[in-house]
Amino acid sequence: MSCKIYMDHAATTEMLPQVRDKMEPYLMGEFANASTAYDMGARSRKAIEQARADIAGVIDALPEEIYFTSGGSESDNWAIKNIAGAKKKEGRHIITSKIEHHAVLRSCQYLEQLGYEVTYLDVDDYGLIRPEDLSRHIREDTTLITIMAANNEIGTMEPIGEIGAIARKKGIVFHTDAVQVVGQVPLSVSRLPVDLLSASAHKFHGPKGVGFLYVKSDQDLPSFIHGGSQERGKRAGTENVAGIVGMAEALKLAAAEMRMGRTRLIRLRNYFCERVMHEIRGVRLNGHPYRRLPGNVNFSIEGVEATALLVLLEEQGVCASAGSACNTGETRLSHVITAIRVPERFAAGSVRFTMGRETTRDDVDATIRALRESVALLRGGSNPV
Ligand SMILES: *Cc1c(COP(=O)(O)O)cnc(C)c1O
Repeated sequence: MSCKIYMDHAATTEMLPQVRDKMEPYLMGEFANASTAYDMGARSRKAIEQARADIAGVIDALPEEIYFTSGGSESDNWAIKNIAGAKKKEGRHIITSKIEHHAVLRSCQYLEQLGYEVTYLDVDDYGLIRPEDLSRHIREDTTLITIMAANNEIGTMEPIGEIGAIARKKGIVFHTDAVQVVGQVPLSVSRLPVDLLSASAHKFHGPKGVGFLYVKSDQDLPSFIHGGSQERGKRAGTENVAGIVGMAEALKLAAAEMRMGRTRLIRLRNYFCERVMHEIRGVRLNGHPYRRLPGNVNFSIEGVEATALLVLLEEQGVCASAGSACNTGETRLSHVITAIRVPERFAAGSVRFTMGRETTRDDVDATIRALRESVALLRGGSNPV
């Protein structure tokens, strides 16, 4: 069954035709290895460096601060493991939060096995990190702070400006997983105190399997993949030219449409929330009411079970998620829903709807209709909704 109404943009997005058109020549025809000396190779090299400059332009970085990777997970792994490794003589304490993406959490857990100490900060009921809480946990041996720019499940946008300022004042490296923010919300690394930042193309209508890591020019990040001299010797391997070109095109398109698209999505999101809160009883909105990603809605619905609800929604053509896409199949509660202390009778019915550029008001209306019907069916009884 395919998704008539796609409400899962936080999991991935569809590639745009313009992106595919830009990639096409580099899949066949312009196939040369960018490290070769002949003209065709030089054209591949040029395409990569143009993409790097374009991406840098969108986030206000320098081209040499952009490193291409295979996506958000790789960028997170690289930043966390290799900054921790580079700084281990200065200290082995890392601060993160309880609601990070698993690419961050599991990298931190891995470092714990190697003898590092990790503090997992609590969040408030909206999923916000309190900067004063961060300050309290900083120690002499803290070398890295990694806090996401926005949460992929509940949409809460973290105060990374304040967090980064605290880190900078203390001389601690600050990494942010901005996979949900890049291409959605304006972001300038020249105005934000961040040292490293992760992004992924498939979250902004680019191809899957490609992303980037921004590394501020004064940071000395060790190599992640050893081998050839690609990515200035830090990430060896023949470049994914088509993917890189596609990512740059997708990000340029996202940036060009960001202002209007964002306003439209915020309106749609607020409409969605208001109607659901009005028309279905026993619903909680998870995450912050307005400090949240434009297209994100996350509800906990009393008396229903998320996996059953998702099946009924899909029967009506609506594709949504419980928690994050990466955890489907697991029956335990999402670590994010647990961290924001959703009351037990609501928690099992937590579902995420994430809208994007092609989502219309009709899609939202149809989703609400499907949600009402599904909840009624699952609750049974005489006054189910
Ligand atoms: C999707 C996502 C990732 C992983 O990105 P991939 O490119 O799929 O590896 C990491 N962090 C966040 C917040 C995400 O939403």
